[in-house]
Amino acid sequence: ATLALADALFSQGLGARRECEGLIASGLVRVAGRTITDPFEPVATEGLVLEVEGRAWPYHAQAVILMHKPAGYECSQKPSAWPSVLKLLPGPLRQRDVQPVGRLDVDTTGLLLLTDDGALIHRLTHPKRHVPKVYEVTTARPVEDGQIEKLRAGVKLHDEPNLVRVLACERSGECALRMTLGEGKYHQVKRMVAAVGNHVEALHRSSFGALALPADLAPGQWRWIDDPAVIWAA
Ligand code: URA
Repeated sequence: ATLALADALFSQGLGARRECEGLIASGLVRVAGRTITDPFEPVATEGLVLEVEGRAWPYHAQAVILMHKPAGYECSQKPSAWPSVLKLLPGPLRQRDVQPVGRLDVDTTGLLLLTDDGALIHRLTHPKRHVPKVYEVTTARPVEDGQIEKLRAGVKLHDEPNLVRVLACERSGECALRMTLGEGKYHQVKRMVAAVGNHVEALHRSSFGALALPADLAPGQWRWIDDPAVIWAA
């Protein structure tokens, strides 16, 4: 596709419409090493990198972001006691309507996807899809075989009519479990572990669909997912 340069800037959250036109007319915007001063000059969006005041911004028609969520940040849109995970994103992404795909609790760490693509959020969070999510659970007391058996068989949570099951569950240490869930009910891991008589001390999500949290992505850091199809890849 091609867009007028000002439209390309605006679509990326790089300023209000008039600001984008002003930045271009002032000679502050470069594309492929060339300064463009006509806000209406068409640019191809394929592989486009916008350079605004010397800072490179890769064009993404839709933003899909992988974040290493730190503890102490909320996923809700209107957080109360804690800052929002959106605070960890740069201004242009906050200007776009980027939202977390599902929620992690304030004290949960690990892989969080965020996107401004509403259809993608719907597909990734729809309960019938069973997109697998892997959680590394630290428990307060040693994990017993019976607890693992109960988690695999399904547990009764008081406000759920049906038994809630894991897709997979294994011991990963004396006080550690690796649980794979295909859905995302409210506080699901904590409530399931409590229902079998243990308690979650710490919770970390290590993967979402086919995406694993990259080892070199520190808490609070994020990166682009350039091709959202990788989330589904087997
Ligand atoms: N289950 C929980 O209990 N908390 C999370 O943050 C995610 C899954």
